[in-house]
This record gives sequence, C-alpha cells and structure tokens, in this order.
Amino acid sequence: MDTKLLIGDRFEDGRGPSEAVINPRTSETIIEFAQAAPEQVDAAVRAARQAFHGWSRTPPVERSLALLKIADSLQSKSAEYAGLEALNCGKPINCVNEDEMPAVIDTFRYYAGAARCSSGTAAGEYMEGHTSMTRRDPVGVIAQISPWNYPLMMMAWKIAPALAAGNTVVFKPSEQTPLTALRFARVLAEELPAGVINVVAGTGETIGDHLVNHPGVDMISLTGDVATGRKILEAASKGLKRTHLELGGKAPVIVFDDADMTEVVEGLRAFGYYNAGQDCTAACRVYASGKIYDNFVADLTHEVEKIQFGRDNDAENEIGPLISAAQLERVSGFVDRARSLKHAEITTGGSVTGGGYHFAPTVIAGALQDDEIVRREVFGPVVSVTRFDDVEQAVGWANDSDYGLASSVWTKDAGRAMATAASLRFGCTWVNCHFMLVNEMPHGGLKNSGYGKDLSVHSLEDYTVVRHVMVKH
Ligand code: NAD
Repeated sequence: MDTKLLIGDRFEDGRGPSEAVINPRTSETIIEFAQAAPEQVDAAVRAARQAFHGWSRTPPVERSLALLKIADSLQSKSAEYAGLEALNCGKPINCVNEDEMPAVIDTFRYYAGAARCSSGTAAGEYMEGHTSMTRRDPVGVIAQISPWNYPLMMMAWKIAPALAAGNTVVFKPSEQTPLTALRFARVLAEELPAGVINVVAGTGETIGDHLVNHPGVDMISLTGDVATGRKILEAASKGLKRTHLELGGKAPVIVFDDADMTEVVEGLRAFGYYNAGQDCTAACRVYASGKIYDNFVADLTHEVEKIQFGRDNDAENEIGPLISAAQLERVSGFVDRARSLKHAEITTGGSVTGGGYHFAPTVIAGALQDDEIVRREVFGPVVSVTRFDDVEQAVGWANDSDYGLASSVWTKDAGRAMATAASLRFGCTWVNCHFMLVNEMPHGGLKNSGYGKDLSVHSLEDYTVVRHVMVKH
C-alpha cells in the first residue's frame, strides 16, 4: 500500500504524527502511517513554484498528451483503484467499478481535449491605432483539498482542469480516505514533470491549515463542509488568494401529481441513497403534492425497504456504511431528533444496523419545512417527505434553504417543468431525473453551497486568469 508523500520528484515518508485509516465496513484499522510535517508542505509548495515556470509555458498539446496518458494508466489499473477505494470508503465494489472509475477516467480525457480549445473575446482594434487581445493564463500554485465521499473522483475534478490550464498543484486528500490519492501519485509522477503535482497527507486542522495559509499558494480549491469553507476564506483573505469552493447541499425534489410515480420512486431509491446518502446532491428533501402524497409515501417506503446493504457478498450491496463512527453518530442524532417530533413518522429504517458504520436506509414522512431534518444537511441515507398544496408553496420551500447546489422537478408537463426549473435557485435542476453528471456540464452551487464550478470548460476558466494585452501600432 502506498503511503509516501509526493514532493517534487521524491516519494518520502511523512515526518508528522501517525493517523490510522479505518475500514468503515468493519471499523478496523487498514493501515497507520506518518502524515506530512509542516516543513514537507513548505517543500511541496516550493517544488510547485519551481515547476510553474516550465509547466505554464508547455504547449496545450503536451499537457493534453500527459492527461491522456494518465487516463490510460488509470484505465489499465481501474480494478485495482476500485478495490482500494471500496476498502477505504466501504463503498460497494460494483458502484466504484461501474459508476465512479469510468467517470474519473473520462474527466482526464475531457480536460485533455478542453486544454486545446480555449475561447474568448475576439482580438481587434477597439481603440484606434491599437490592437487588443485577451489571454487566459494559469493562476499559479493551487492548493487543492478534497473530502472523503468520492476521494479519487474529487481529486480528478480538481487536478485535471488545474493541470490542463497550466497550473501546478499541491493536493491534500481527506485524512480519512488518502489511499487512492497516494497510489495515484505514483502515476502522476511518471507522466508529469517534477513538482507539477505534489501530494501531501494530513489532517485539515494541521496540514490543511498550513497549506492554505502558505504565502507561496496563489489559489485554494476546497470541496468540503461549509464551516471549512469559511476557514478557507479567512485564510485566503490575508493574501487575497483566489478561492474555489464546493460546499454542502440539501437538494429539494418537487414531485407533482402528474409525475410517473414508478419513475419517481425508483429514482429516489437510487439517488436519495447512493453512496449511503453521503453526497452533496443527494435527493434528500422531497416535496410531494398533497394529491399523491399518501400513495407516494407508501410506495417509496416499500421500495426503500428493498435496498440491499451490509451483505457479506459485496456484489449484492447497493449501498455501504457511513464513513466513520462520528458520521454514524451525527446521522443517528438527526434521525432520533426527527423521531421525537409528533408530526413526523419514520416509515422505514431509522436505526444503526449490522457491523461497522451501517445505518439503515430511512424515510421520514410528515416532515415540516422548519424541521431540522428538512433544513440541515444530514449526509446519510435519510430522505424526508413534506406535503405541499400548490406550486408556489413547493418552490418557496425548495428555495427557502441556506444551500443552493442541486434540485429536481418531476412532472410529465414540460411547461410546468421549465417554469419550475426557472424559479429554482440551485446550481443544477434536473427534470424527471436526479444526480446525473457529465464532464461537459458544470457542477457547483449558489449560497452556502459555495461558488466556482467543477467539470466543464467553466472549471477550466476558474483555474485561469483573464488578461488584456494591447499593442500600439
Ligand atoms: P470537511 O470540510 O471536514 O473536510 C474536507 C477537507 O478539508 C478534508 O481534506 C479536510 O482535511 C480539510 N480541512 C478541514 N479543515 C480544514 C482547515 N481548517 N484548513 C484546511 N483544510 C481543512 O468535509 P468532509 O467531512 O470531508 O466532507 C463532507 C462535506 O463535503 C459535506 O458537507 C459535503 O456536502 C461536502 N461536499 C461537497 C461537494 C460539492 O461538490 N459541493 C462534493 C462532495 C462533498
């Protein structure tokens, strides 16, 4: 198992305190290894600074070829990465193999193409006797910090556009899920010049904090909690660093009375509980029309009861456990507080079950707009259902949230779908589906869900600065 840090052209053991990496399926330690020391982060930032001059001037075609080779290498060892990710996160192996790995590999291929297709304002004589043009140049050294829910995918979403745009990177995975990043560092070191990418492991409060406060860092990109986002902004304000924040979510799902109920219920079974609900876009806050509410709750409950988890034969599992004991306690706390409400009813699930950190897929019916379970991000396999009377009420409640990442609308009426989508204040609205992402389209939020886009050319733009060059004739 790879546990060495990548700093410049060297793989070295951490010189900081040891951290255990836990298997969420069993709660046993997978491995314990020494994390980075602050001076190793300093060395990583120095290496990235030194590499910037050369990498930022490398023609796009060469950056593109390097990304393609990285994609090919990932593809050839896809099963190995999937196994490591499943072990560290407790994810069902089929989900990683079939859903995550192809998307991760395609992210590198997409940015290999996008690196060569920059566009912008046309050059021209906007002042007599002068020619103006715009450039999109890399920002510099980017500190990139990722969460534990999709470790390799979040790494791909961050490093592929940053590298494609000509930046150099110091990447820190979550201390809970560092294994695939440290393995992947071996491939990155083979395909990229020394220092273009550096990978350091460590906790957020120590190594993460040291990295984001480092004066040699030009931009900070975080996917994580809203509270962590605030700390990043404080650190960034000192050096006026650019930031790219992808924070939490609490996705509303508006189900109209004319929706195809079979599709809705199957969709919620998949997209409310995928990755055990540890997903910032999870379909977790349902608003169902009063006309179909009772049947809908009964059908959803019936379907969610069938979700397979905690099986010894992992091929049968649809979801895995939560990531940690702390996350299990947090999710249990939300559900217990909802259970104590007179108006709410847990129609299925609601309990800790099996070994490791498993929590049963849960439906909470009769939830009201001001309930904590409707307002706060649970990040577990828990879906609340709230009854609505008319579209204004549904849209009003959906938008009445601190978050603004993802949402969905379910109806057979195209006009109603478009009008509702237009009224929603979320980075993404799906119609008659939820959770679907493609590398060509942007992903990112509004409000407390952060700003900055992952995926698409918009992410590539986020990792560049626009400059004006004017030439006097
Ligand atoms: P977290 O904020 O606790 O940790 C995320 C990363 O930040 C980790 O690598 C951690 O070590 C680091 N970190 C923590 N404190 C830090 C500090 N003071 N300075 C620098 N780095 C620090 O989040 P998490 O628990 O790992 O992930 C779950 C959260 O991520 C959820 O809120 C979820 O919604 C969010 N998320 C958002 C998206 C999105 O695209 N919007 C995607 C996935 C996850």
